[in-house]
Parts: sequence; C-alpha cells; structure tokens
Amino acid sequence: MMYSSRRKPVLYFKDDRRSCFMCFKISRSESQRMQRHEEVHFLSRKCTVWKLFGFCMVFVLGSLLWVQLTCSGDMNQTVGYSHLPHQPCPIERQSSSADDPSWGPHKMALIVPFRERFEELLIFVPYMHAFLNKKKIRHNIFIINQVDRFRFNRASLINVGYMESGNDTDYIAMHDVDLLPQNEDLDYGFPEEGPFHVASPELHPLYHYKTYVGGILLLTKKHYQMCNGMSNRFWGWGREDDEFFRRLKTAKLELFRPTGITTGTKTFRHIHDPAWRKRDQKRIAAQKQEQFKVDPEGGLTNLRYKVESRKEVTISGAPCTVISVVLECDLSQTPWCQSS
Ligand code: UDP
Ligand code: MN
Repeated sequence: MMYSSRRKPVLYFKDDRRSCFMCFKISRSESQRMQRHEEVHFLSRKCTVWKLFGFCMVFVLGSLLWVQLTCSGDMNQTVGYSHLPHQPCPIERQSSSADDPSWGPHKMALIVPFRERFEELLIFVPYMHAFLNKKKIRHNIFIINQVDRFRFNRASLINVGYMESGNDTDYIAMHDVDLLPQNEDLDYGFPEEGPFHVASPELHPLYHYKTYVGGILLLTKKHYQMCNGMSNRFWGWGREDDEFFRRLKTAKLELFRPTGITTGTKTFRHIHDPAWRKRDQKRIAAQKQEQFKVDPEGGLTNLRYKVESRKEVTISGAPCTVISVVLECDLSQTPWCQSS
C-alpha cells in the first residue's frame, strides 16, 4: 500500500481512535477493510499530547519571531521590511505617555554631540530612555553624529541638534554620551526660570570649577535662541562650554543648579576611559589665543551644515534619532578645524 508522506500509517494503525488533523481513516468494518476509503478529518479527533505540544511550540515561536521582526526599527532596515510601519516594542509601550497629564505638558530634546563612541552609545540610549521614563519626562533622543573630516565640534553639533529637533519639543538637554545620572532625584524637568546645569561642579566626577556648564545643561528653546546658540569656532576638545557660560551672562539668564543631592561626585557615572577615548587637546596656530575669546556674533546665525542622513533606530528597544551631519568650516576664520 502506498501512502503519501502525510499519511502516516504507523500513527494510524497504532490506535484507530486517535488521529491527528490531516490524518486519514482507511476503513471501519471488516468487509470494508480491503477497500480504501479516504476520509479527511480535520481536527476531528484528539491529537497525541506530543503532537499538540509541538504545534503549540511552533505557534509560540512563530509569534515571537514576528514580534521581533516587526517592532524593531533596526530589523526593518536590515531585512528589507522597510515598508512595514514601525510598531512600538514593549519598552516603548511602557513609555507611552501621550494622554497621561501627570507627565506634564513639556517635551525635551535630548541632544548628544557624537562621534565614534559606539560602545558608550549602546549603553547611554537605553539607560537614559528608562531613566527619563521613570521620571515621567517626555523626550526624544537625538544623536548628532559628525561625519565630516574636520576636528570634533561639540558646540556646532549641539546647534545642529537644536535646529533639527522639531516643533514638538520645547526644551533641550545638551548631554554628553558618557555621563550617566545615578541619582533619580536629579531634576530633568522644563527649566522655566533659566538654564539648569545638571552636571554641576559639585557633582561632576571630574570638573569642579564654578563657571563650569559642560556635561549636561538644560535650556528652554527660547533661552537657547536668546544666546544665539553656541559658538561654532571651537574645534577639538574644550572651551566651547566656557564661552557659553559667558553667553548666558550676556543674555542676562540666571543659571540654576541642583540642590539637595547627597550623592556628591558619585551622582554620575563617567563611562570614559581617557587612554582609549583620547581628548583632542591640540592647539593649532592661533587657536591658543583664540580659545579664550568670546565670539560675539557667531552661533545659530552662522551655523553651516548638511544633514547626510536621518535614521530612526532603536537600541535595546529604546528609540532615538541618529542624524549624521557634515559641518562646514570657514578656513579663513578657524583654520584650526583641520588637524594638520
Ligand atoms: N564626543 C564624541 N566623540 C569625540 C569627542 C567627544 O562623541 O571624539 C562627545 C561625547 O558626547 C562626549 C562629549 O563629546 O561625552 C565630551 O567629550 P569628552 O568626553 O572627550 O570630554 P570630557 O568631558 O570627558 O572632558
Ligand atoms: Mn568624557
């Protein structure tokens, strides 16, 4: 007797009271035994326990695979599912705050000036997303990735972040990628009264001078505009934040800092190995003198850049926007934008 591969005689003859869907019954009575009656019974009889178990496992695994493929922005891009709408992953659903008034009316653009700190980024984005959600701070994370061949320009990247952060955010946090807040009492709310320096000199693990405003600084967009943003003249490491301190004074903005934080210099984790992530502290040509000067005109008004790409990605389920940027440099103004 010939059976197709789906007709499993072993199963059938073992016990004709059991079958599984898609199995075949051959005959009932003695006289009919020689005759082949093929009756298809879909789900008409009990399956074996193991068959049922196997079916359930396949179904569960299939569902998990589907969720993985459709909810991750990264996967959508890499496996050609770009036509699928981006679906929220569980971590994003948790953070859904759209209709919850306890999250308040404001939304922060968290701006990260960035180049070649990939390992830190993988830690930073999920950490900050969870930290801010826990504090009910509405936010979008923008990674401003410098892709030109000039030296790193933290201030210009923050200016770009401000320009590209959209109308649904009303304040910015300029935020180093390697500073992770460890104390949930730190305030990341809307800085209504004036700029709020989260990584204050008493709390920063490294920088303790009293005019320091680097690391993490919050400003309303209105206040940032009043300063004309940051100067674009600072290429390489340092001084752009000190120049911004002077802009705050010029704009007559009062600077605020955290109070009642008892964790001291353990308030932040600085995930920065200086031997591996070397600071570009070279001072080229006139940069040596120029680095201490105020830039009275430059800022948002003379920022020159091109957006090379803009991608929505998720890192361990946490969403962020990666904007790759080509900065322009006026060599007659700041020849030190080039390394050599
Ligand atoms: N940064 C970067 N790539 C660089 C240099 C700096 O992404 O090559 C960014 C990053 O966000 C970093 C911030 O600029 O946290 C400040 O630079 P860095 O950590 O070197 O300075 P520090 O505050 O530790 O002196
Ligand atoms: Mn650092």
